[in-house]
Amino acid sequence: MRYSAFTLAREAILGHKNWPKMWRSPEMKSSYDAVIIGGGGHGLAAAYYLAKLHGITNVAVLEKSWIGGGNTGRNTTVIRSNYLQKESAALYDEAIDMWGTLENELNFNLMVSPRGLLHLAHNTHDMQEIGRRAHAMYMHGVDAELITPEQVKDWIPFIRLNGRFPVMGALLQRRGGTIRHDAVAWGYARAADSLGIDIIQNCDVTGFQIESGKVVGVETSKGPIRTNRVGIAAAAHSTELAEKAGFRLPIEAVPLQALVSDPLKPVMDCVALSNTVHAYLSQSDKGELVIGGGTDPQISWGQRGGFFEVENMISAVLELYPIFSKLRMMRQWGGTVDVTPDRSPLISKTPVDGIYVDCGWGTGGFKATPVGGRSLAHMIATDRPDHLSAPYSIDRYFTGALIDEGSASAVAH
Ligand SMILES: Cc1cc2nc3c(=O)[nH]c(=O)nc-3n(C[C@H](O)[C@H](O)[C@H](O)COP(=O)(O)OP(=O)(O)OC[C@H]3O[C@@H](n4cnc5c(N)ncnc54)[C@H](O)[C@@H]3O)c2cc1C
Repeated sequence: MRYSAFTLAREAILGHKNWPKMWRSPEMKSSYDAVIIGGGGHGLAAAYYLAKLHGITNVAVLEKSWIGGGNTGRNTTVIRSNYLQKESAALYDEAIDMWGTLENELNFNLMVSPRGLLHLAHNTHDMQEIGRRAHAMYMHGVDAELITPEQVKDWIPFIRLNGRFPVMGALLQRRGGTIRHDAVAWGYARAADSLGIDIIQNCDVTGFQIESGKVVGVETSKGPIRTNRVGIAAAAHSTELAEKAGFRLPIEAVPLQALVSDPLKPVMDCVALSNTVHAYLSQSDKGELVIGGGTDPQISWGQRGGFFEVENMISAVLELYPIFSKLRMMRQWGGTVDVTPDRSPLISKTPVDGIYVDCGWGTGGFKATPVGGRSLAHMIATDRPDHLSAPYSIDRYFTGALIDEGSASAVAH
């Protein structure tokens, strides 16, 4: 069914009893032209683009739990392209452009909200860092403005400019903002399913069948599948899968947490991030403050994280925004993020013919879901990277051509 104002009105009159399921729950077949491991945003987007752009529809997305239940459904929904390096500018800015038209393309409300994003500077070093980044963005054709503390106050009237963490200025990206995270998973799933892709939930990939250095199948908790093309989009679990296929990935798994408050009347119509104090926030359409911080320092697979991180981010938020001191927090959760040494992703061929990866997105891969998925689809279909993903090969850890985004991604987002 195509969603429209007409179908919404019709179903409202009929009591909302006739909405069809958004995707099927098909039986898994014994062979596919391609298999994608991981039903997060990247895996589902890859399946959609394989069908839409390359005409490959005999494809299964295998998800060990429920779709969007990994980092895709746990993130703080921030999108932006205010990175330092030209490779990142190309990748993340293209994603911002793609978000602009994706709702129409998928016929799904993703609640795209390019409401403006401020990266606050609290000391001289921060000012130098945002200055350097703004100039790099400008050179790469990405919108960037350096604004004064008074202009920050125009955006966030209740911010404390002269407290323990003085606000000396900010890097503003007006096209930055938020997008509803689950809707991205659901929108891609629905569109992929309608093009014939099989989405198989509760299906854990446990191993690979490899012959003469080439993949010929995968082992799953629901039985084996014959296939000679496999895309791994399993975030931090990509490392475990890689080891099962006989190679290693330069990725560490660390917890990253977020929390939301009780709903409030609208108070904040932008996103504000602070690298130095390690906290950032925005207000959701339901009115909750969505608050995120930095990663836990230790490697862990726990999708929860330590309480000290929560305490750090809340104390930083209260220093900057004392107005929220009486606010109660409603929920807290964590995800396991896949961090690479240069804080840039891996969209790459691997030492096994026919296995490709789209992972290593760390604290910031939600915003890149459309480009990551499209590039993985291109690689699965053609055995070659596309123009955006070529620099993101695993080979950069051998050639030294790293894409260092340590400062642009210092606080989670
Ligand atoms: C708290 C938090 C806040 C964040 N905030 C932001 C933000 O504001 N903006 C931003 O851009 N990014 C943010 N991120 C990062 C972002 O969420 C991720 O980079 C992105 O969602 C990764 O998407 P994905 O599809 O690669 O992975 P995931 O959504 O994690 O999907 C991977 C899937 O693979 C499945 N899987 C794993 N192993 C197997 C297996 N063996 N067999 C089958 N399936 C398997 C998992 O169950 C999972 O569903 C945040 C992350 C967290 C945790």
